[in-house]
Amino acid sequence: MVSAPKKINKVVIVGGGSAGWITACLLRKHLAADITIELVGAPEIATIGVGEGSTPQLRGLFDTLGIPEAEWMSACNATYKLGIEFNGWTDVPGYSRYFHPFVAQTDLHTQDVFIHSCYYRRLGLDVNANPDHYFLNAALAQQGRQPLADESFPFSVEYGYHFDSTLLGRFLATYAKSLGVTYREFSVSDVVIAEDGSISALVSAQHGVLEADFFVDCTGFSARLISQALGVKFISYSANLFNDAAVVMQTPCLPDEKLMTQSTALSNGWAWRIPLTSRVGNGYVYSSKYCSAEQAEQELRAHLGVDDSVVARHLKMKVGRLEQHWYKNCLAVGLSQGFIEPLEATALHLVQTTVEMFADCLVKGNYSDALQPEFNQRINTRFEGIRDYIVGHYRLNNRTDSQYWRDNAANEDLPLHLKGLTQAWLSREDIGPYLTANKLDSYYSINSWHCLFSGYGIYPSQLVPADSTKPEVQSFLRRIDDVGHFNRMCSQHYPLNKPR
Ligand SMILES: Cc1cc2nc3c(=O)[nH]c(=O)nc-3n(C[C@H](O)[C@H](O)[C@H](O)COP(=O)(O)OP(=O)(O)OC[C@H]3O[C@@H](n4cnc5c(N)ncnc54)[C@H](O)[C@@H]3O)c2cc1C
Repeated sequence: MVSAPKKINKVVIVGGGSAGWITACLLRKHLAADITIELVGAPEIATIGVGEGSTPQLRGLFDTLGIPEAEWMSACNATYKLGIEFNGWTDVPGYSRYFHPFVAQTDLHTQDVFIHSCYYRRLGLDVNANPDHYFLNAALAQQGRQPLADESFPFSVEYGYHFDSTLLGRFLATYAKSLGVTYREFSVSDVVIAEDGSISALVSAQHGVLEADFFVDCTGFSARLISQALGVKFISYSANLFNDAAVVMQTPCLPDEKLMTQSTALSNGWAWRIPLTSRVGNGYVYSSKYCSAEQAEQELRAHLGVDDSVVARHLKMKVGRLEQHWYKNCLAVGLSQGFIEPLEATALHLVQTTVEMFADCLVKGNYSDALQPEFNQRINTRFEGIRDYIVGHYRLNNRTDSQYWRDNAANEDLPLHLKGLTQAWLSREDIGPYLTANKLDSYYSINSWHCLFSGYGIYPSQLVPADSTKPEVQSFLRRIDDVGHFNRMCSQHYPLNKPR
């Protein structure tokens, strides 16, 4: 039920991880200046300490805050990210790797040829449908280039970042405080619920009672306010996404690091490789149903070629989302609102979207909860859109080397529209209308979905050579070649990434 506007004088954010400090910065920017914003944290409860890759949306955060790239990147040992390389996700011969790029403006000239090549390939014609050939960022990543073009080239590419998550938290904390957000230590041990079911105060065994009009839960997986105190239901994605644990290790940088995240399939999950300026972050995300923490650690050590002197950190993950992210006078942001495993590094993107959209709804709703149902529905759609794309990576694999991969490939407990999409691809339909009708392109574009299917080599195994004596075939093959020339030519305008 929508409640009448009640003046919000004070907002308390609980939790000093990345989500808490991003929330503090953005709310301070977007809410009325006379609203007090306080962030409270419990230093004795560690932050998750991972989350080092982003989508291009993180640029928007720093643009909104007016912080130059050079300033925050150097403070956080950050590098650029052109996209994600997937290694070993399928056994289809010739498809041992592919690149999922962030978009470049020049892709507008090439994506059409890519979509058509995929279509012909689905019809059984032997044409090049590897996404690497068609997208500028794939060329830049392979050539070891960075994403800022020289001044003579007017087209831009989208890029994300890799960064040290602890340093990012510290940087944003300093910035939020400079905007007027206050901070104090306050470990929440109890939550006082008012008669109407909303939160009236927080209690700390050491620090007393803290009252506010609105509370933001950024307490990580514990979801201390929204789940433990308010009892908002958690919807698990474990039937679709099996991974629930990770082991993390750091290794030194190599001299020729490429500006991409690498995601390599291992026997019971996958390993990330994220190059920073100071070190490389590595982690193995796996399912504890299929392998023990010790087995995962040993497999990651073997994969990285490191011995026991390299420190390993083990983490548990809760994969799914809340039924409502904004409930009564509480908003959940970050791991407390849900998590869809880190394959596409979308968690901070969801943090930003949640806070931006919340602030917008609050202000447009005259600081009431009038737009709460619409807000919750929109955030849930975002979560589901990302989930479906990630589930696709598991369901489409055809590895047979472990029960984990065989079970993923055989999993029929899928969202209905994902089943329909795979059917449409295999039936050689134009998947564009299907994506739109089922809102599957609301987060990942038609290009991304084509990259996924074509990167996995989901094509007929019997291929007919393209008959280059036919003029229309000749002309299309020429267009495919032209795309390669075009991307090579464009890439020359992007400087090589300087060796460290
Ligand atoms: C294996 C793994 C890999 C990931 N990789 C990526 C990635 O590549 N990209 C990406 O965007 N995201 C990634 N994420 C997600 C990312 O780490 C988080 O979204 C991000 O760090 C935000 O976390 P958080 O602030 O919600 O929680 P946390 O970092 O856990 O912070 C919680 C805070 O709440 C405080 N707190 C807890 N309980 C209380 C209490 N009772 N009283 C007071 N304070 C309390 C803690 O002290 C802490 O400061 C990954 C996550 C995992 C698990």
